[in-house]
Amino acid sequence: MKLRQQTLCAVHRLVVKVGTGILTSDGSRLSTAKIEPLVQQLATLRAQKKQVILVSSGAIAAGMAVLGLKQRPKKLEQLQACAAIGQGKLMAAYDALFEKHGLNVAQVLLTHDDLRSRQRHLNARKTLLQLLDDGVIPIINENDTVAVDEIKFGDNDRLSALVATLVDADLLVILSHVEGLWDGEKKRIPIVPNITREIESLAGGTDRATSVGGMKSKIEAAKIVTRAGIPLVIADGERADVLAAIFAAEDVGTLFLPKSTRLESRKRWIAFFQKASGTITVDDGAKHALCDGSKSLLAKGVVRIEGNVVPGDVVSICGPDGVEFARGLTRDGDVIVHRDDLVIL
Ligand code: GLU
Repeated sequence: MKLRQQTLCAVHRLVVKVGTGILTSDGSRLSTAKIEPLVQQLATLRAQKKQVILVSSGAIAAGMAVLGLKQRPKKLEQLQACAAIGQGKLMAAYDALFEKHGLNVAQVLLTHDDLRSRQRHLNARKTLLQLLDDGVIPIINENDTVAVDEIKFGDNDRLSALVATLVDADLLVILSHVEGLWDGEKKRIPIVPNITREIESLAGGTDRATSVGGMKSKIEAAKIVTRAGIPLVIADGERADVLAAIFAAEDVGTLFLPKSTRLESRKRWIAFFQKASGTITVDDGAKHALCDGSKSLLAKGVVRIEGNVVPGDVVSICGPDGVEFARGLTRDGDVIVHRDDLVIL
């Protein structure tokens, strides 16, 4: 319990992600009865002077209701159309409910690509921080008209991790219809100090008709934030006053502890926001030098380069076992990746 207290007491800025499942009644229409208590909880956090960013799905479900669809459409463009129809409804619902608490909201639609370009990345960050300064609650969703990453996989889990990383949040909370990560006997794991292979193997997808992602995408999100130095709680969004319970350090959900101290903004950008344009396999000696001695990667340690890598590209760096252990920005010359541009994962 002490560990929870220590991790949660200093949280000032948090990102809360809510999945479609906990915003809808039958998975295909928004439920005010479900959204209202969530808004109430977020308003309470604001009253405690915490800065809150909401990452919310639910646009597709809202759009499905408008079109009278009971089943989630199969075609991506149909899902995208539903999201475009439903996004306004989703925001209208939040706007009306937050207004009752005297709070303003702002719609922010993002894609992974937006956050990849350094300039757009910084623009998005600046806008979000300004909104928080203005006391407004930013409500973020994927811009589903131009991107389908989260529709295909993740239901915004990954997006919420990127947003938490972008704004340097102190905590990410993912609220879902599961009480946390289960062990092999379907018992909740209260705290995960390290995301080991065993932990990863506990994560399955989803069998829900209206949701995508399941625990798999939540673990992906956990890997991003914990490496960035941000803790994550996955908890049951339908439990009454779940956010208050989390902040009271009660034994709810699964808390993933940060792997290390905070990673500085540029290194976060290299590690999590870029697509690797290739893979560099290094020998054992180079791997140890990079991991232990914070050295740069020199040409002599490189075994193989795969992909079309040009200087300035981000690459995935693997050991002789083929497992990625670092990411870095490449340079020209003998120093392939300088240690200032290297992130050990
Ligand atoms: N952006 C989507 C939404 O708001 C994500 C959720 C989904 O794929 O169902 O509905």
